[in-house]
Amino acid sequence: MKKIYITKPYLPPLEEYINTISSIWQNHILTNMGPLHKEFEQKLTQFLDVPFCLAFANGHLSLEMALQALDMRGEVITTPFTFASTTHAIVRSGLKPVFCDIREDNYTIDADKIENLITEKTCAILPVHVYGQICDTEKIEEIAERHHLKVIYDAAHAFGEIKSGIGIGRFGDLSIFSFHATKPFNSIEGGAVAFSNYELGAKLYQMKNFGFMGEDMVCSVGGNAKLSEFHAAMGLCNLKHYEEICAGRKRVVDRYREHLGKIPGLKLLTEQRDVKENYAYFPVVFDEMLFGENREVVYNRLKEHGIYARRYFYPLTKDFLCYKSAFQRYETPIAEQITENIMTLPLYDSLQLEEVDKICEIILKR
Ligand SMILES: *Cc1c(COP(=O)(O)O)cnc(C)c1O
Repeated sequence: MKKIYITKPYLPPLEEYINTISSIWQNHILTNMGPLHKEFEQKLTQFLDVPFCLAFANGHLSLEMALQALDMRGEVITTPFTFASTTHAIVRSGLKPVFCDIREDNYTIDADKIENLITEKTCAILPVHVYGQICDTEKIEEIAERHHLKVIYDAAHAFGEIKSGIGIGRFGDLSIFSFHATKPFNSIEGGAVAFSNYELGAKLYQMKNFGFMGEDMVCSVGGNAKLSEFHAAMGLCNLKHYEEICAGRKRVVDRYREHLGKIPGLKLLTEQRDVKENYAYFPVVFDEMLFGENREVVYNRLKEHGIYARRYFYPLTKDFLCYKSAFQRYETPIAEQITENIMTLPLYDSLQLEEVDKICEIILKR
């Protein structure tokens, strides 16, 4: 029986990749912001429709270095309903995460609960456009402005999204993206920071290249988060296929909706108004009373049939072993309820509709 995993990374036609990397055999530039890296950053800036964009080795380091480039101290208000990276980046940057509850409708940070968490130590808000669901950017930024806080968006799930004509990377002080193999758009490993303040660019650049400014002047305590030419080449190839990848994913999402959209006890995300979506994830929340089974039972049944759905995002990051007793306990009842009952289904551009039909049949066979 053919196994179906949560995702299958997109690869461009092999000849396209070979053509793109062939210049490396002439110039011998493998990394350190070479020509492919430069071209990739240019194309990304255009594609994301943002003022500035810098490429990084991966999404996580782009977030860590963005936090460090902003040179902050104190507390960061964030969501516990996210991938490990978001919370780790805060803690690894010497900041303290303060966990805010999420909204019941789209699982992003509940902006109405942010102000209660602000103290004299708060320096920033770090929301996540989780599953590509765009946060309440207007309310978040209004609060931030009133309290003089930075806003950093973890837009790892929101690559390519456009809200009312505005590229997703234009919100807040900056946004970070991930081009990991498992994301809808990949450069094998890779990430980027989008921002509009020109001065921030120099700091970000230093952070990713050991703090160097010029040949032998080191101005900040940077690390190494450079994207290699081979990764940039993969990004350049895949960017050309982005629309095709999205269309393939939409086909799968539409089919899931057909099968699962009207089943009592299954809650799906609703389409976002005025948003060009990227179809990054397909999460389903199970209501045991109405559906007759809980998430665990369905998750295991799928597994028995060789279908590997994932409990994204479970557990909440604030409940990780490394954080459980490290920070003050914040009440996040909605997040607790969602994390116990949510499951994301396999989703990638080349997933066959017959496979989607089979997955749904197994879910509904209770
Ligand atoms: C994938 C992801 C990251 C980290 O990206 P990498 O490229 O894997 O380092 C950060 N935040 C979220 C929400 C993610 O899903």
